[in-house]
Amino acid sequence: MKPLLLDTPPDEWNFEGTQAFRARQIREWVYEHGVLDFPEMTNLPANLRQDLEDQWQIRPMEIARVQGSEDTTRKFLFRLHDGQLIESVLIPANPGSDGTRATRMTLCVSSQVGCALGCKFCASGLDGLKRNLSPGEIVGQVLLARIEAGRRIDNLVFMGMGEPLANLPNLLPALDTILSPDGLGIGARHITLSTSGLVPRILELARHPAQLRLAISLHGSDDRTRERIMPINDRYPIAELLKACETFVKERRKIITFEYILIRGINDDLGQASLLARQASKLRAKVNLIPYNQVDGLDWERPPLKHIEAFRKRVEKGGAKVTVRMEKGHDIDAACGQLRLRHAKEVSANQIPIK
Ligand code: SAH
Ligand code: SF4
Repeated sequence: MKPLLLDTPPDEWNFEGTQAFRARQIREWVYEHGVLDFPEMTNLPANLRQDLEDQWQIRPMEIARVQGSEDTTRKFLFRLHDGQLIESVLIPANPGSDGTRATRMTLCVSSQVGCALGCKFCASGLDGLKRNLSPGEIVGQVLLARIEAGRRIDNLVFMGMGEPLANLPNLLPALDTILSPDGLGIGARHITLSTSGLVPRILELARHPAQLRLAISLHGSDDRTRERIMPINDRYPIAELLKACETFVKERRKIITFEYILIRGINDDLGQASLLARQASKLRAKVNLIPYNQVDGLDWERPPLKHIEAFRKRVEKGGAKVTVRMEKGHDIDAACGQLRLRHAKEVSANQIPIK
């Protein structure tokens, strides 16, 4: 296969035998105008367009399916060149009910196909890890979603499929492209990396020059609770994880949030809430409570609304900033990894149309 152009940050593009300004022109076509076919780059000489077309692949994937509509949460299912499927979710903030456009767009992106970490509540980990995404496959999700949305993407969250910090060697060059004004030009403070707690990688990110945000998937505030649902806790127990968070926060005043899924009878004890509040307030971390999203094949459920509210109040009373994040797009399977699984089942039954 031809090398993928988006695997390389645009500042490093080098097309042998062409003058330097050609790279700038191509960059403008791709990242400013969203043109992903060399033949359409009309200010390049025809023979150069043909040469580039022969040598490079721009599109890292095709859109297999889009669910949702322009002014609601939209879910993209992408098919990669080897046939693997990944998903991204585009979430508008404050869309007007009268059809006015959303003020901000957040895109939730995937970092791997599947995941090796096997958290017990998560659909992405059910089949294990298939493979890492390349830098271009990470960047491509943002670029294609932006083209489809017809507007800029303001915020990125790495909360789709996979563990972004387990794919740091590919994530870092992807971030170079995402951050670069010559690439997607999204500011570091608008980018959140979500992790289940790979301590050495958190420490590595603490030293990253950009002020990226980190979301820690805690989901249990003592080891006994957490290790029941997150096998990674055996390798990096809570005390060690919190120490890494402290280092991260201290370095250039970086910001973290704690994500906490609420699963009825598993981790929703009010004692967990008090402990969570103490851990968060010490790091000035905000807490996001996420009512568990039903996953096919698992019989857990979210706690009743009244209990969710009691849990929230307890965290607040303990001195931490806390919000309950009702999953947007719940109705279109916005939970981690679920669309892909459902889709995979349908594919075996009938062929899916390509948009
Ligand atoms: N691997 C990273 C990022 C991807 S998961 C991580 O674990 O942080 C993104 C978020 O979705 C995590 O906080 C994860 O715990 C959450 N999540 C996974 N399955 C879920 C489910 N069934 N209901 C609600 N949230 C879920
Ligand atoms: Fe992997 Fe995150 Fe899912 Fe855990 S929650 S299995 S780390 S994607």
